[in-house]
Amino acid sequence: MIPFVDLQAQYRSIKLEVDEAIGRVVESAAFILGREVEAFEAAFAEYLGARFCVGVSSGTAAVQLAVTACGVTAGDEVLVPANTFFATAEAVSTAGATPVFVDADPVSYTIDPTKIEAAITPRTRAIIPVHLYGQSADLDPIFEIAARHNLSVIEDAAQAHGSLYKGRRVGALGRANCFSFYPGKNLGAYGEGGAVVTDDAEVARRVRLLRDHGSEQKYRHDIIGYNFRLEGIQGAVLNVKLKHLDNWNELRRAHAARYHELLSAAGDGEGGAGKGDSDNGGALMLPQELPYARHIYHLYVVQSDERDALQQHLAAAGVQTGVHYPVPVHLQPAYASLGHRAGDYPEAERQAARVLSLPMFPELTAAQIERVAEAVRSFAGSQLSAARV
Ligand SMILES: *Cc1c(COP(=O)(O)O)cnc(C)c1O
Repeated sequence: MIPFVDLQAQYRSIKLEVDEAIGRVVESAAFILGREVEAFEAAFAEYLGARFCVGVSSGTAAVQLAVTACGVTAGDEVLVPANTFFATAEAVSTAGATPVFVDADPVSYTIDPTKIEAAITPRTRAIIPVHLYGQSADLDPIFEIAARHNLSVIEDAAQAHGSLYKGRRVGALGRANCFSFYPGKNLGAYGEGGAVVTDDAEVARRVRLLRDHGSEQKYRHDIIGYNFRLEGIQGAVLNVKLKHLDNWNELRRAHAARYHELLSAAGDGEGGAGKGDSDNGGALMLPQELPYARHIYHLYVVQSDERDALQQHLAAAGVQTGVHYPVPVHLQPAYASLGHRAGDYPEAERQAARVLSLPMFPELTAAQIERVAEAVRSFAGSQLSAARV
């Protein structure tokens, strides 16, 4: 079986370093925050070219604290893409505000900048672009709109560690920016973890207070906060893994290029697949790297009209896949009270029905990639011949 991700393979490649780092934490008993977390915060801020990084307990906590630290409160609205992991919107809600959805761009999968202004009301305070699947949203038009309407831009970079926008690392460009270190992310901890990254000293101070019971000094609590602290072991593991991140991202990019080469002709009589503009019949749409972006392929996502059948075909061929995400956020039961219907965000809904994530992780072998591509091609072939009968 070809797994969707293989965290054990990655552990084997860094076992000595990681075991030593975890051992240090256990020996020092610095289980919560502490030296290893501080060292990671400094290293990750430097990697991103940002002034501050504050480690927190998850990516979801990072979004919630970033939203709150930007001054968003009850009654406020925050713009989020309709196609994202649920947590982006959920964290806006747990911060007390209301998520307002914006449809997706059909090629980049990220928030469509041309649809943002129509969603702005007098209550809007912030926009959260999500760098979905590892490719940056088109940030310049978003910053321009935000400046005109006096909104904070909060990047959700949970899938984009090391991804570039016009040559600059994402997750350090908005007012407050969020990362997840969930184990399967490009930079993953050995448990839960996240961070807020910012150049704004006041935002950093607020996040530091909020993550630790509103306290900077033991038993003195300046505000009501949370227990959203990052663990020492996670700091130690992340410090080891950060040194490998660029190399791992390069491997992902090479795997994506190989998939592209092998799949370009799959299921498409017109030769349009792979250019992102083809949606005829059984054609397969491949991911496209936008000119402004350096994609780090957290996920390698294709689209097909026959997504469910393709997924079953791949499972039967021993290829594990995923769907990110099958239900757009505005149609989730949890947001029924917002009163959305099918048809409100047509592009997000179309993607939810068509996207399929193929195996993608740095340790994927050339033989595995070829077997995945062969399985995809054999499906496309059977579809085409069926269509001819
Ligand atoms: C993973 C993810 C999150 C949440 O991160 P957790 O660490 O799982 O809480 C938020 N937004 C996006 C886009 C994600 O992919």
